[in-house]
Amino acid sequence: MKPTDYIRREEQYGAHNYHPLPVVLESGKGVFVWDVEGKKYYDFLSGYSALSQGHCHPHIIRALTGQAEKLTLVSRAFYSDVLGEYMEFACKFFGYDKLLPMNTGAEAVETALKLARRWGYAVKGVQPGEAKIVVCRENFHGRTISIISMSTDPSSYAGFGPYTPGFIQIPYNDADALETALADASVVGFLVEPIQGEAGVVVPDEGYLSRCYALCKQHNVLFIADEVQTGIGRTGKLLACDYEAVHPDILILGKALSGGVTPVSAVFANDEIMLTIKPGEHGSTYGGNPLAARVGIAALEVVRDENLSENAAVAGRLFREEMEKYRHPMIRKVRGKGLLNAVVTEPGNGKTAWDICLALKENGLIAKPTHDHIIRFTPPLVITREEMLDALAIIQKTFDQF
Ligand code: PMP
Repeated sequence: MKPTDYIRREEQYGAHNYHPLPVVLESGKGVFVWDVEGKKYYDFLSGYSALSQGHCHPHIIRALTGQAEKLTLVSRAFYSDVLGEYMEFACKFFGYDKLLPMNTGAEAVETALKLARRWGYAVKGVQPGEAKIVVCRENFHGRTISIISMSTDPSSYAGFGPYTPGFIQIPYNDADALETALADASVVGFLVEPIQGEAGVVVPDEGYLSRCYALCKQHNVLFIADEVQTGIGRTGKLLACDYEAVHPDILILGKALSGGVTPVSAVFANDEIMLTIKPGEHGSTYGGNPLAARVGIAALEVVRDENLSENAAVAGRLFREEMEKYRHPMIRKVRGKGLLNAVVTEPGNGKTAWDICLALKENGLIAKPTHDHIIRFTPPLVITREEMLDALAIIQKTFDQF
């Protein structure tokens, strides 16, 4: 089969809810992937930041295959030998009393919303049915009905109403707006991405997160960080909130929690919050399954043992320095933190970010535009200095062609 045959088949039998770059991948190792014709590419999307540990990391794959031959699923109707080990390891890793295991990022966000509402009623004393959660404009937290009810992006929410009530939208990077919203005593939580990833890697001003956290404390409101994309080393620290020494009341992780191997997400909180949900009130058949637990431990071990946060900080600095030095009329701005970066482009001679991504692919590097004019560059955190310099040469050579 030719690449076009694979593409035609996916288009024929699959829902058209994505618009993929026309490349058909067959294998991956570290920062590289290969297509069905054997062509090699740098993966600068990394499964939307899930593959932070690189493709098919041997330590994680060993954990997966070893466990796959023993026990894959018990459901939470029973205990397993590995779930508690994973929970203890992850809780100590991130500094929380407890975690609640789920699978996808969206499920973990839903879990956090339920936890915040429940805490609001059970602990804060909000009137039944009145709880509100403050969210930021241009957020991205996933695709469920309640989550798109928080969205201000029509491509996420339009045509899917009616929407879930109980959300207050405020501008991002505006702590004053949060202060105003918190005057409402029925607010139970503030949900925020420390850097807005899908919005195009929007980095807030220094001090924003810590000021928001302080405001939440002042008003007895939970500070809920969605670090599904920013977490686990991606921005150059274990958590993006670490830059401002903020320890979220509820922490949401996903993606790299499994190194791109199997869906693993989790919500972390201390007992006062977590224990407000009782047996039978929340769950998921696959959440916390033995495979996910083994993979979760291995994925975090790789982050720790290979110093991936530090590497992301160093490699990310190199990326931004080199891209800022490089001048091109189609590049308006380079921004980001660690290895969560974006290049904001201007259309030039009728060419757009999509055309640049097509040319990048021809030159051996795959990346994807977000919001038409922004190209996200988020390679695996295991990237070496040599690989980054090589990839930068490909990116600059590609812009030169425009
Ligand atoms: N939160 C954030 C910040 C995200 O970036 C994403 C995915 N891009 C999600 C939640 C949803 O994760 P998932 O696709 O695994 O449901």
